[in-house]
Amino acid sequence: MSKLAPVSIRISAPKGVYDVIGADTVRWDDLETRFFETAATWGYPRVRIPVFEHTELFVRSVGEATDIVRKEMYTFSDRGDRSLTLRPEGTAGMVRCFVEHSLDQAGLPWKAAYGGPMFRAENVQRGRYRQFHQFGVEAIGVDDPALDVEVIALGWAFLRHLGLVELTLLVNTIGRPEERARYVEVLADHVRKAVPGLDPDDEERLELNPLRVLDSRDPRVVEALATGPRLRDVLGDESRSHFGAVLDGLDAAGIPYEVDDTLVRGLDYYTSTTFEYASGTLDSAQNALGGGGHYDGLVEMCGGPPLPGIGFALGVERILIACESEGILAEVRGTVDVIVLHVGETAVPARRIAAELREAGVRTDVVFGNRSLKAQFKQADRSGARVAVVVGERDMERGVVTLRDLDTGEQSEATLDSVRQEIEEVIGS
Ligand code: AMP
Repeated sequence: MSKLAPVSIRISAPKGVYDVIGADTVRWDDLETRFFETAATWGYPRVRIPVFEHTELFVRSVGEATDIVRKEMYTFSDRGDRSLTLRPEGTAGMVRCFVEHSLDQAGLPWKAAYGGPMFRAENVQRGRYRQFHQFGVEAIGVDDPALDVEVIALGWAFLRHLGLVELTLLVNTIGRPEERARYVEVLADHVRKAVPGLDPDDEERLELNPLRVLDSRDPRVVEALATGPRLRDVLGDESRSHFGAVLDGLDAAGIPYEVDDTLVRGLDYYTSTTFEYASGTLDSAQNALGGGGHYDGLVEMCGGPPLPGIGFALGVERILIACESEGILAEVRGTVDVIVLHVGETAVPARRIAAELREAGVRTDVVFGNRSLKAQFKQADRSGARVAVVVGERDMERGVVTLRDLDTGEQSEATLDSVRQEIEEVIGS
């Protein structure tokens, strides 16, 4: 039987996922490093939690009636027929981790930061993907409005220090579950009366998760809500005073905010304070760079003690889009500073020079294959390096190499002993 050649098929990445390449990777890593440095400075060291968990964790915590659980989770059965889900968000896993390791024993609040890929089967558009990345923090175990303020302030400080200015902090309180239950009855009644013939999406929201009707984009609903009952008006004393203390704390910290009565956020576990960092540079449907809130029952629901928590998550992709729109993305030159070229039988000394530069921490590349000097210079230009070191046979006999400044085209000679120092002078400038 003749052997068939393998069929060549080009397989592209699934919809809603993407690759991070070149300068984007540098910016991405830099953003992540800055986030975890900021978090650590505020006393929130990083923990690493798994990318998948038991499906039940998300169903119970995020909530059965939420869009995430109903429509967006990547759920699969493993070989032992257990139902697992790629994490759609980080808080549930953080709380599970807190409970599983009895981290309340080490003193409260437990404060920690996390980050990584999250997965939701959403309608893909700019700023909305199926694998996206978040980093965030959680502070679990102490019921103090000052802790809400600290968490909100940490996210705000991080975003401001990136240089973002078109930022708005939105805050709200959604009260306690029993206050919300009273409110949603009045709300549903009001919306149904004010808007006959609700669109099916809003009707479904009223049925399953009535608070979400506050996110409606139907102008008739938006108008009805403007004159409708407000959650804030039905809150009890405790909820009011907690929210008042949060706002006072933000005032004292000099952080500007807007109270947004419609900010409910889509996850069931939130109680009391909710907040969002919105960017003025993004489309309104995707303008949240991140958000979070306070949760009261989640730790207990995950089998732990009845402790409250507060946290937020920021979206890496959206932050990068906002930085680009505000023109503050860092300039990234090539991924190396120096490239070593060789002419004639000098590959070995060229590699040695490259090795010494790398040993000294200089980002250095070399040329492979048997290429003409012209082709090597072309590659040098493409590489984005600042300096090319040309190692020629005759130069080597004299113990020198040629340095070419790839920006100006200027050339100079350097002895083998001084190559490193001269290069560091150019790239350090
Ligand atoms: P959430 O967990 O839904 O509160 O989202 C927090 C932040 O994560 C949002 O403000 C976005 O910046 C980001 N985010 C959420 N979903 C997506 C997505 N599908 N694609 C990209 N970023 C997202």
